[in-house]
Amino acid sequence: MTSAVPTPAVHKTVAELRRGLGAWRKSGERIALVPTMGALHAGHISLVELARAKAGRVVVSIFVNPAQFAPNEDFARYPRVFEQDLALLAAAGADAVFHPAPGEIYPEGFATTVSLAGPATAGLEDRFRPTHFQGVATIVAKLLIQALPDIAVFGEKDFQQLAVIRRMAADLDLPAQILGAPTLREADGLALSSRNAYLSERERKFAPHLNQAMQWAAGRIRAGEPLEAALRDARAAISGAGFNLDYLEVRDAGTLAPPAVGQIQGLRLLAAARLGTTRLIDNIAVDAAPAKG
Ligand code: AMP
Repeated sequence: MTSAVPTPAVHKTVAELRRGLGAWRKSGERIALVPTMGALHAGHISLVELARAKAGRVVVSIFVNPAQFAPNEDFARYPRVFEQDLALLAAAGADAVFHPAPGEIYPEGFATTVSLAGPATAGLEDRFRPTHFQGVATIVAKLLIQALPDIAVFGEKDFQQLAVIRRMAADLDLPAQILGAPTLREADGLALSSRNAYLSERERKFAPHLNQAMQWAAGRIRAGEPLEAALRDARAAISGAGFNLDYLEVRDAGTLAPPAVGQIQGLRLLAAARLGTTRLIDNIAVDAAPAKG
């Protein structure tokens, strides 16, 4: 016998969301929020699972946020598959879904944004998407204020975004605890992403080269080779595999600043590269193995 999975409550307005979550809060339940843009895959579901492990109630937001797309980016063609997402979230045990219309989030006259520095101006994604993090931070601040969760879960897949949100939550005294979740990958190393759906069959075959070149560079850095040589060769390998490389950099994993002279611990390798019209991002830890004694 199969038991039917309950469908999560769907809230379309901030008022409905607050009523639904307010009732849980009143009965003393911990609430976790998982913000997404929908087109959900197993990576998103792993965030929901982490949220369920940490809180009694899980709310997932699905909102393709126009403010974080530049005019030349893929806002119009970004996949929107709400019914499919809802079925996945029901199966994953989410309790509620917040799915507002753009006008609910950005009503006539909307004029306020969050102003960022620190990790948001590290010279990585921000160099190529100069208005992106302001759009992300503003929607995340709004969602955290709307839902007032105890916990909010974000993927390490978007590593600079996670650093920006941690910084913002600390600086603005937003009460939610920000949790990072590891990146889920295909068997060949490609990080799961809603944008992988844009890849042609041929591009999909080449896509894992990005992560492979990053693993190669990280291994060489761990083995004590100079950063610049490892980065130079990996950049050449990525371009040679047919990517247009936006950046491949090693940074301090906490601040995203360039590594201090001689720094070998707490480093992160971050990259963005385009295959045809699809832009892929990835990042991995570069922790050196502890010295053998
Ligand atoms: P998005 O819908 O792309 O805005 O992503 C929503 C959340 O899912 C963000 O916190 C992402 O970092 C996270 N996410 C996206 N892809 C993955 C992945 N492959 N593994 C883990 N988390 C992910």
